[in-house]
This record gives sequence, structure tokens and C-alpha cells, in this order.
Amino acid sequence: MIETKTDIKITKTVKSRIDEVDFNQLKFGAIFSDHMYQLDYKDGQWLNPQITPFGNMEFSPAMSGLHYGQGVFEGLKAFRYNDGKINVFRAEDHYKRFTRSCDRVSIPEMDKNLFLDGLYTLIDIDRQWVPSEKYKSLYIRPFVFATDNFLGVRSSRTFRFLIITSPVGNYYEEGLKPVSLTTMPDYVRAVKGGVGNAKVPGNYAASIYPAEQAKAQGYTQVLWLDACEKKYIEEVGTMNIFFVIDNVLITPALSGSILEGVTRKTVLKVAKDLGYDAEERPISIDEVMDASENGTLQEAFGTGTAAVISPVGKIHHADHNIEINNREIGPVVKKIYNHITGMHHGDVKESYGWCHVY
Ligand SMILES: *Cc1c(COP(=O)(O)O)cnc(C)c1O
Repeated sequence: MIETKTDIKITKTVKSRIDEVDFNQLKFGAIFSDHMYQLDYKDGQWLNPQITPFGNMEFSPAMSGLHYGQGVFEGLKAFRYNDGKINVFRAEDHYKRFTRSCDRVSIPEMDKNLFLDGLYTLIDIDRQWVPSEKYKSLYIRPFVFATDNFLGVRSSRTFRFLIITSPVGNYYEEGLKPVSLTTMPDYVRAVKGGVGNAKVPGNYAASIYPAEQAKAQGYTQVLWLDACEKKYIEEVGTMNIFFVIDNVLITPALSGSILEGVTRKTVLKVAKDLGYDAEERPISIDEVMDASENGTLQEAFGTGTAAVISPVGKIHHADHNIEINNREIGPVVKKIYNHITGMHHGDVKESYGWCHVY
């Protein structure tokens, strides 16, 4: 058992479910490891951190979180090194973003130790659930929601925080296969001043219908444009986006309606380390369509913890279709992907303190 500053009450499961799991057939987010971490906010404090067997919870139908969506979530991953050790990737950055998201929706902040000690202890207890094969991982889902049994609209005075974990394979069953995108002029994901830069459930609820429409039209995901001018590119599906134009990596600057992805930050840093120029700036859909026309658009890809990197092979916008790099994975994305997944599994050293290895 690892030593922590937090006194966590631990109740272990009587019988592990791990023997029922086929680690060669992992669907994203469908199987959950033996234990979960939880604590409650009451009387102005986060109280009673505990690890218990994963299981159902009981709540009142009047629980405010169900009605008004006051909640926040995170997603990060733990990877296995060849020597058996576990690497939790950029946990502090995910904690910081969790805190920022909580601030935006009036959820009381949680002390860093309560968050990270619980997370590291939980994964230590469920160590054998971290897959050993490369590109597989243990997906970690911290989340919090309002628990007052009250239908009036105000900030809840009680909350529950949990961390659950799920062993996962490659996010896309086909692996790193380029996806196709379409803009959706009738819908927007987020507006400046709203909650687009916070990781809250409502953003996802709003994106599901347009995503289904895009799928029905034969595209994998929606390419989101800004809500005001419908001109600047913001995100793709639930990922950040990068373009390679004239050998320069470009990702939209954080505008207030874009979620600041940890993978986005990783890619910006790694790209520079690998000798590429990388820019954060507004980029319009017209610039991308023009770059395709004049042959300077080399690659495009989405970034996010779940998929890590997702190459884009096709974009549809305003009756025009463009194909990128013959719908094949490009050399830049491949190099960056290999570097980052190398860090995940310990084959590539990093000196930024991103890896918590134990
Ligand atoms: C979580 C998320 C991302 C990706 O963030 P990562 O920290 O890289 O996982 C991008 N866009 C949206 C809308 C998200 O919710």
C-alpha cells in the first residue's frame, strides 16, 4: 500500500471480477475495475474519503444534480511500463483543470491531496486492472455532482465526488484510422462566456444531436465552428484540433469557448521538442479549405485523452469536400503519436514531471 497524507478508509471487495474480463476485447468505457473512490461535501467540507467495491448508489429522485446538471468530470489514463510499474499521466494538470471547471459551476474546490492521494491509492489497489499491452490503458474518470434533494435553482450545498476506472484498448476499434468531419452550420457547441471551457456534462448533452446528424450524413464527427461568426474552427467532436500547413502545426487559440485539452498541451510541447514550429492562433475554415486547394495543407488531427490522437482524412464544409494526405496517416502525426505513446509506456523519457510512476 502506498503512503499518503490522506486518511482513506478502505473496504476491499470480497471477490475480484478481473477473471471475467477479456483484456484482448476491451470496449471503451464498458468494464469497470473492482473499486471506486468517493467522498462527500457537507457543512462546508469534503469529508470521509473512502475506497469501496465498485457498485450502485442510491439517490432521491429530487437530487438536484439530475435536474440541473451541476457537475464536472475529468478523464485521464494510467499506463503500464515493461517492468510492471504504472504511470499515471499528467494527473496534476487534470486536477488543475478539474478545479477550474468546478469554479465555473460553483462546486467547492477540493484539496489537491484529497484528489490525487485518492486517485493514486485507488489505482494501486486495482493495479492488476492496468492492461500491460502497449496502447492499452486504465481510463480514470473523476467526477462530481450536486446531491441536495431540492428542486429550487441555486447552488447545491452537498456534493459527491467519485473516481471510477475502466481498462480500455484503442479508442477506435480500427486503430489510428483517419476520420471524416463535417461542419454543422445550424449548431454550435459553446459560446464565449458560457461553459465551453469547463469540462461539464451539459456540453456533451448539447453535442449529441448534431453528432448523430453528422453520422447520419456519413461523417465520423462534427467540426465545430465559433458561435458568433461561424468562421473560426474551435474543436472536433470532443477533441481539440491541429492542422499542419506549410510544415507548421496550428491549433485554435483558447478563445473562452474551447476546452483546454491536456493532450493539446502535450502535443504543443512535444511538437516543439521534435523541432516543429507550432502556433496557437485563430484559424478559419476558409484558411483550411484554401490551404487544401493550394496544396499546403499536409495533415490534420484531433487530440484528447481517450483517443490520444485521431487523424483527419476528410472535411466537408459548405458543399465542398477536401481530402487530407490521401486519407492516410501523415508523417508528422505519426511521429508525435509515437513520441507521446512512448512516454506513456516509458520507452521515451520526459523531463517535465508529467509521469507519476510507481
Ligand atoms: C476533454 C475534452 C477535450 C480533450 O481534453 P484532454 O485533456 O486532452 O483529454 C477536448 N474537448 C472537449 C470538449 C473535451 O471535453
